[in-house]
Amino acid sequence: MIPPQKIVILGSTGSIGQSTLRVCAALPEQFEVVGLAAMSRIEPLIDQARLHGVKTIAVADVQSARIAADRAPDLTVWSGAEGIERMAAGEGVDTVLCALVGMAGLRPVLAALERGTDVALATKEVLVAAGGRVTALARRTGAHILPVDSEHSAIFQCLQGQSVGRVKRLVLTASGGPFAARADIDFEKVTVAEALNHPRWNMGKKVTVDSATLMNKGLEIMEAHWLFDVPLDRIDVVIHPESIVHSMVEFIDGSVLAQMSPPDMRYAIQYALTWPGRFDGGLPPLDLVKVSPLHFKSPDPSRFPGLSLARSAAATGGTMPAVLNAANEEAVSLFLEGRIPFAGIWRTVEVVMARHHSIRDPELEAILDADRWARTAARETVNAR
Ligand code: MG
Repeated sequence: MIPPQKIVILGSTGSIGQSTLRVCAALPEQFEVVGLAAMSRIEPLIDQARLHGVKTIAVADVQSARIAADRAPDLTVWSGAEGIERMAAGEGVDTVLCALVGMAGLRPVLAALERGTDVALATKEVLVAAGGRVTALARRTGAHILPVDSEHSAIFQCLQGQSVGRVKRLVLTASGGPFAARADIDFEKVTVAEALNHPRWNMGKKVTVDSATLMNKGLEIMEAHWLFDVPLDRIDVVIHPESIVHSMVEFIDGSVLAQMSPPDMRYAIQYALTWPGRFDGGLPPLDLVKVSPLHFKSPDPSRFPGLSLARSAAATGGTMPAVLNAANEEAVSLFLEGRIPFAGIWRTVEVVMARHHSIRDPELEAILDADRWARTAARETVNAR
């Protein structure tokens, strides 16, 4: 019998992390979870560890890690950003699933890849900001980057057994969030609750707001470019409100392959972990008759500038995508704090990008500098108003 794969989950208390634990629990012969990490939410983290028989946890916030060690003497608790990296680079770990929010995922992902450990990647910001560095490292060590983002999982599945040379274009589907179908919405007046009310997917706050601005799709264009080595101008976006077709690949012979499933992240997570195999994890079947009709339409770039800002950052390259990403993360936080209107998110990103002089072929430090600079610049832009 093949021993179960040893899995580490970074960001286990979030939506993707919880779904990953469900996937692993449904296939106990395939998976053994050996480490869980979170930024600061220690109560659910400790509960998860005990429920799933995980002995080691890591907590990024040092203060919270200390409290966790007091409360859970039965667990080994690693602390700080170093603790998370140590867990990612753990000996004997087969796959690290990274679902940390934003740039917090970068160093742990690099640590895992450096060791040659496969990474199931949900944190798209890692590829947006440092795609060149991250993919070069994976090539050098032979580690795989397995997409967990539903669109990229779909493309990855459609590309099995195919070479990129046969690809004409990739088509990323976007649910459009709560606003794409509603031309009457005034983006100066959208409330936080309205932006967080996603019609199809139940996700973390940051990605839900990104989904409402369509910035998420902009980031996903860059993510797809790095994962599949397809030029940016051959990656298209189509709005598909039902979120059943998760993305498509058009080949040079004109055939289009699509991957479908109900809108539940467990399908993408399970495939990332079982690839290249497939297993019955008890996920509900897709009933096409029930979910039909399915709709597809073009996004309106004049209403959603996030898409073109992302394409522009990607075309500039260098440190500009890291700046777009960091300015967007800060702007989303400022919106959630009630400090800027919804439309202020893309206005802030645009102002910060205009102030940045991109550095070509940046080293990791230059990327991290650009990230820090853009966060400060975003806050300054808003404070100056
Ligand atoms: Mg996605």
